[in-house]
Amino acid sequence: MTPSSAGKRALITGVTGQDGSFLAEQLLAKGYEVYGLVRRLSTPNPTNIRHLLGTLHLLDGDLHDQASLESALRRSEPDEIYNLAAQSFVGVSFNQPVVTGEVTGLGALRLLEGMRSRADKARFYQASSSEMFGRAEHSPQDESPEFHPRSPYGVAKVFAYHAAVNYRESYGLYVANGILFNHESERRGLEFVTRKITDAVAKIHLGLASKLTLGPLDPRRDWGYAPEYTDLMWRILQSPSPEDFVGATGEAHSIEEFVREAFRCVGIDDWPQYVDHDPRFARPADVDRLCGDARKAKERLGWEPKVRFPELVRRMVEADLARQKLSAPPTHAAS
Ligand code: NAP
Repeated sequence: MTPSSAGKRALITGVTGQDGSFLAEQLLAKGYEVYGLVRRLSTPNPTNIRHLLGTLHLLDGDLHDQASLESALRRSEPDEIYNLAAQSFVGVSFNQPVVTGEVTGLGALRLLEGMRSRADKARFYQASSSEMFGRAEHSPQDESPEFHPRSPYGVAKVFAYHAAVNYRESYGLYVANGILFNHESERRGLEFVTRKITDAVAKIHLGLASKLTLGPLDPRRDWGYAPEYTDLMWRILQSPSPEDFVGATGEAHSIEEFVREAFRCVGIDDWPQYVDHDPRFARPADVDRLCGDARKAKERLGWEPKVRFPELVRRMVEADLARQKLSAPPTHAAS
């Protein structure tokens, strides 16, 4: 891909999240002027973007609030809009289905409406999700929209996906969906299962915890490394015409495999003795297996993930070990 990005302007919603922070870094490195939408919190949470403060323009706004989105679009005058903000945790979506629908679903529609009236020459990326496939009939899953979501999060993402396609078809706007399978990193929120595992494994290794409590270990996901997926987001918006693309590694691994691999990184083979099962972590409906087919992204955008499963787990465990060592010195090494 030939970057001709200098002087371009990008607006990122969800800039404080895992993906938003990696994308902001990558766009700044390409010479973009980057604007990030930040919602008001009683205690601001700049952890993921602290190192970018000063180079990144922050704009107040909330996906609940149309006026704030239009103001952000007016002030940033974006060439590219990346809609990454969401209530993004599947588990919470069962307890907060209406908030999830409001932010993850209607929030995307509000931003599309804002684009239509304030930035109709911009290119719009919608962060769609493999959770839309849910109980899919076919595997691996490609760009065919054969969705059967199994959570309020998945339902909200399906709504946003179709809103994006509809704005593309109805108004001729440049709107593209990236249908990304799970992607993780050392910046993943601690409530997500991968990060919960690597954080606990680091603590157990350092003698700071004795147990990791999990729900079902059978679900299989296609896990990649987040910075490679934010690079894909950018590539999707460089395509001459707006189209939807899947991002995935093409490999599915179970949660149990993730746990085993994480303990292996700290030299613990008898991992089951450290793991408790709590049925309360099971969801009312779950997705057994998701595995993506990203051939279109490879052929058309030259995108291919390089970080594979064992390397992903190792990076996350090492980052959590380093973080834990900084905050508390080891008292006992379990290996
Ligand atoms: P994340 O770390 O949970 O970040 C979500 C972001 O949305 C945060 O910056 C959060 O701000 C912001 N946000 C939440 N509610 C908001 C609201 N009402 N108004 C404005 N901002 C709000 O998620 P991620 O992993 O980076 O994922 C980025 C996007 O890709 C999400 O839409 C997610 O659903 C989607 N996606 C992720 C994956 C994955 O595996 N990571 C896969 C497919 C799709 P605060 O910091 O203030 O909470």
